[in-house]
Amino acid sequence: MEILHTPDAKALIELQRKDTAIDALAAAAAAIPAKLKALEAAFEAKKRSMSEARDALMALQSKKKDIELRLAEAEEGIRKHQRELNMVKDNAAFKALLTEIEHDKQAKDELETSELMLLEEIDKASVLDKAVQEEVKKIEVSKNAEAAALADEARKLAAALEEGKAGRAAAAAAIGADLLEKYEAIRGSRAGLAVVPAHEDSAGKFSCGGCNMTLKPQKMMDVKKPDTFAVCADCRRLLYLESTIFG
Ligand SMILES: [Zn+2]
Repeated sequence: MEILHTPDAKALIELQRKDTAIDALAAAAAAIPAKLKALEAAFEAKKRSMSEARDALMALQSKKKDIELRLAEAEEGIRKHQRELNMVKDNAAFKALLTEIEHDKQAKDELETSELMLLEEIDKASVLDKAVQEEVKKIEVSKNAEAAALADEARKLAAALEEGKAGRAAAAAAIGADLLEKYEAIRGSRAGLAVVPAHEDSAGKFSCGGCNMTLKPQKMMDVKKPDTFAVCADCRRLLYLESTIFG
């Protein structure tokens, strides 16, 4: 079959347009769950980074508590040894206590230095924690808005699909069974596109609107005939000329 005459040419072209529109609606509807999933995943990742910042801050705060405890112990040690200083009689014990006190004081100094450094770290971690929390809040608001917009889009697409399918059924009912069967067979093997326009370039050459191959002179003649589809030699789609069919 290289050429196909039919009084249903116009109706078949309209059917293809409806099917193309329905396919686009169905693809858009099918893409929405993945978009929703990506939105949620991005938000969950952000939330994890929020808990990481919070955990880091808590770890620093618990370190600080530990240092405070050790500082109190060092101070208590100093006080205890100073009390003991007043009670010892011999010189050796006195000297030993002084050494102990010196040791405690040194430990206390070191702990105080660590505490200061830790306080700086806690300041930084708490600024980061606050910033991350605010960002998460912002992202949640925009995530929810986007999810609501997507749900709205899904409802609209579903309604348009239903309407499109009803219109499609009515259009298909007006076309002969043989032609319809041929159309569906080509559509099934050619990514949903069975009927395509022939395009004319500035040099007057025609090409297939489906596979873009240039038409041979005979095809150019065929496609210009009224109520006629020429079959593309390359992709086997049904070709028509807009100006012939609708002109
Ligand atoms: Zn083609």
